[in-house]
Amino acid sequence: MPKGDQKLGAELWSSALPRLAQRVGNATYDSFLRNTAALGLDGEDFFLGVPTQFAKEWLEQRHGEVIAECLAEIAKHPVRLHMEVTDSVQTPPPPIAAAAPAQVASAGVEVFGGTALNPRYSFDNFVVADCNRFAHAAALQVAKSPGHSYSPLFIHSRVGLGKTHLMQAIGLYAKQANPARNVVYLSAESFVNQVITAIREGHTEQLRRRHRNVDVWLVDDIQFIAAIEGPASEEEFFHTFNTLCETNKQVVIASDAPPRQLKIMNDRLRSRLEMGIVADLRAPDVETRIAILEKKAAAEGIDFPREVLEHVAKKIESNIRVLEGALLKICAYHSLYQVPLTVPLVEEIIADYSTSSTDKHVTLEDILSHVARALSADPKEILGPKRSKEIVWPRQVAIYLAREVTDKSLAEIGAFFGGRDHSTVLHAYNKVGDLLANDEEVLWFINDLKAALRGE
Ligand code: ADP
Ligand code: MG
Repeated sequence: MPKGDQKLGAELWSSALPRLAQRVGNATYDSFLRNTAALGLDGEDFFLGVPTQFAKEWLEQRHGEVIAECLAEIAKHPVRLHMEVTDSVQTPPPPIAAAAPAQVASAGVEVFGGTALNPRYSFDNFVVADCNRFAHAAALQVAKSPGHSYSPLFIHSRVGLGKTHLMQAIGLYAKQANPARNVVYLSAESFVNQVITAIREGHTEQLRRRHRNVDVWLVDDIQFIAAIEGPASEEEFFHTFNTLCETNKQVVIASDAPPRQLKIMNDRLRSRLEMGIVADLRAPDVETRIAILEKKAAAEGIDFPREVLEHVAKKIESNIRVLEGALLKICAYHSLYQVPLTVPLVEEIIADYSTSSTDKHVTLEDILSHVARALSADPKEILGPKRSKEIVWPRQVAIYLAREVTDKSLAEIGAFFGGRDHSTVLHAYNKVGDLLANDEEVLWFINDLKAALRGE
């Protein structure tokens, strides 16, 4: 059923899609946005047709705001978004791998059950720095010899720090090196959906064969396996995962939490995930953020004054996706109005980008004094050589928080906490991580400390 002006709606939606792809990421775009169609625009009301109830809920809950925002930016007036499940959604736009300016010949990595890879997410476009050096090295190694080095490779980080980028880089690289390879990239949500459909339609055998017959299996956002559906899909996932590992195929998993903190029920799955290489991505420091912005600005073909990039990099600290969003907004403004980009102008353009919890900059000294107070320990002893139990615990907690709340490197944290080496820092971090995964009291204690540090 058309709603309001159909043509206007369609135009608005087709200009919004490429931007949305940037904002929501390739996986969500391909799983949920590609198969939508504008139904019409009626004043400020925009009607969007989506293929399933699941897609509707997913988009509304997670991306409703950003979609409305994107539409409003293009329409230049506020937009209210309404979604409807429609039977036939015609002519889906192309996958963004094809829509995006191709920097490498699109490897055409699309097999049944997977999502097309985005050529923008190549190793060449990935800025390597302390915050991601290890994960990058492991990913490159895996891309060069899939199945032979580290399987599974488990990459985890907070949102927007490059997990999807690295996974897709692995896929692109492995496929380009050998086009005969069967590379599958998919999000865990899409895996879960496939399992549900397969069970409903009695195709589980086929599904198994498809997923077990791959050379490189890249599963993104695995936290959804547990969050969405529970045992059936988790079991199915576990079996596929095992089969692939046992036949020396390459498995790469991305997650928002380390294996020990994942809410999965299957302990064997958890321990197998831990058996491979576990690499995390940390928030980039300001220099790295500037380097990333420079790279993206160059790709957009816009010459940004250095001080403008610095301003953006300083304002947006924690999430590279948000950083990119801000840059794109500036680029859009610039190409629309053709005005020189100055710091005050840019400040205005990105005024609504909140720096939220990162507004308050937490230092290692803050952490030391907070922890010392909370656990009645002497700060000097925390930094000192003593290894008695009473002082080791506060030290470990402080180190854990330093790694969670600041963007300091292992070396910097170790140096601050009494000149300890990076393996000591990692050990402390894992120790506390283990404890809080298993002990709710510790979890609450640490969460409270975190909130206090961030001034929440
Ligand atoms: P995640 O999957 O961890 O949420 P993404 O991989 O989607 O994060 O990254 C968010 C955005 O930031 C992407 O557009 C990605 O290209 C960009 N990005 C992340 N890390 C880097 C990096 N080191 N160099 C360049 N771009 C990066
Ligand atoms: Mg991702």
